[in-house]
Amino acid sequence: MPSMLDAVVVGAGPNGLTAAAELARRGFAVEVFEAAETVGGGARTEELTLPGFRHDPCSAVHPLGIGSPAFKAMPLARHGLEWLQAPLSLAHPFPDGSAAVLTGSVGESAMSLGPADAGAYRRLVAPYLGHWDTLAEDFLRTPWDGLPRDPYRWVRFGLDALQPAALLSRRFRGEKARALIAGLAGHAIAPPGSLATAGVALLFALAAHENGWPVPRGGSQAVSDALASLLREHGGAIRTGTEVKRLDELPPARAYVFDTSPTALARIAGLGGAYDHYRYGASCFKIDYALSGPVPWTAEEARRAGTVHVGPTAGEIEAALRAAVSGRDPSVPFLITAQPSLVDPTRAPEGRHVFWVYGHVPAGWEGDATEVIERQLERFAPGFRDLVLARAVAGPPGIARRNANYVGGDIATGAFAGLQTVIRPKLARVPYATAHPAVFLCSSATPPGPGVHGMSGHHAAKAVWRRLRAA
Ligand SMILES: Cc1cc2nc3c(=O)[nH]c(=O)nc-3n(C[C@H](O)[C@H](O)[C@H](O)COP(=O)(O)OP(=O)(O)OC[C@H]3O[C@@H](n4cnc5c(N)ncnc54)[C@H](O)[C@@H]3O)c2cc1C
Repeated sequence: MPSMLDAVVVGAGPNGLTAAAELARRGFAVEVFEAAETVGGGARTEELTLPGFRHDPCSAVHPLGIGSPAFKAMPLARHGLEWLQAPLSLAHPFPDGSAAVLTGSVGESAMSLGPADAGAYRRLVAPYLGHWDTLAEDFLRTPWDGLPRDPYRWVRFGLDALQPAALLSRRFRGEKARALIAGLAGHAIAPPGSLATAGVALLFALAAHENGWPVPRGGSQAVSDALASLLREHGGAIRTGTEVKRLDELPPARAYVFDTSPTALARIAGLGGAYDHYRYGASCFKIDYALSGPVPWTAEEARRAGTVHVGPTAGEIEAALRAAVSGRDPSVPFLITAQPSLVDPTRAPEGRHVFWVYGHVPAGWEGDATEVIERQLERFAPGFRDLVLARAVAGPPGIARRNANYVGGDIATGAFAGLQTVIRPKLARVPYATAHPAVFLCSSATPPGPGVHGMSGHHAAKAVWRRLRAA
């Protein structure tokens, strides 16, 4: 390494690694410092329960990863990343044993909502089908970073996306479609009445039709390992087991790029109260299961789906999310579950399975949601508990302990609420830049926000190389 680095990156999550790899590929000298013993942040895989059961403590399913313009532009397959698709991207089962589904076929997905709503669903997604790449380029960035590539669809999608999901749901007559939309919007960790939750629902639905909702072979760690391997190929270095507490602990560099929360960035880089206004959101209660067999879902579709949403009505989903954001204990949680070992035999011993599930709880909540989560699973998969060989649970304090970015257990590193939904971490032409000319932020606290897609890292890297080349 040269005595003066071009860039030091703090944090080896998907955004930090993407920023580092993109800078290294452009010939800059880069070193990454990571607090944990391994790279990955929210994209990692560990034997959390029993030997041979490889769990994803954080992200598991990657609709935004496979569709990410940043990931597509990097040779990650050559560095070991292989996407595996379940027969159905998503199943959303109902108490009568039926299920709404999302697949590559819009027709099949629409028909699963029932004849009264199939046409409305087709009309909702039709304008955007076949345009994922331009939509992703235009929407997974800051609105003021140049003109959109497809202005017509940008405006049209923007008008649909800015609505609350509850408003979008009024296009549908039946409960199935409304529950499907509320469940998709639930990925924002905000009730479906919140601004722009329609955009989240629409983006996830389109992702299922365009690219699927895959899991990486070997688990989420494969995404991080591929990025780290690409970075090293271009001369970048990574130092793990090193928590950065102050800027002056770091080697001299022309730029410092933080894959951290805005609060940690301000503390470490001495930016005072620059991000005191920034708000963190509700949290999750996560359970990773080692199972003796596949989940015995009543709905046949759920047995073939990579992701299963458990929330029988839009009303129940709304109540669960509202409780979490208003600080109330979970009673009937909305569950997001994933079944990676249905398609990836490397994740569990033969015939056995890993199962990933979380429900929403208030920030910092210290209770135990295992009972309410398993009661809900038993409603839709009777006999589930009999299959449990071991479980690893993590509520907000555990989630925050694993990763400093998840303040109070907020897995999105920032609330999806009010103006912060579209403007984060603060109103600025370049939200990746800070008051310190050499310090940048690249975590999911910057646009386009949470998820394993590396787009925040990509945009931050762009801001860094523009600054370095101008210097
Ligand atoms: C339970 C859970 C489920 C999720 N499910 C999904 C999913 O299925 N699909 C999906 O796309 N996304 C999912 N996510 C969200 C996704 O994991 C995050 O949005 C994503 O990882 C954010 O990437 P990042 O690089 O911004 O930050 P992170 O992945 O959080 O990485 C930040 C890194 O910085 C390190 N760090 C922080 N402070 C310091 C410091 N001071 N010094 C050194 N290192 C530091 C941390 O240790 C960490 O490794 C989930 C998250 C959780 C927790």
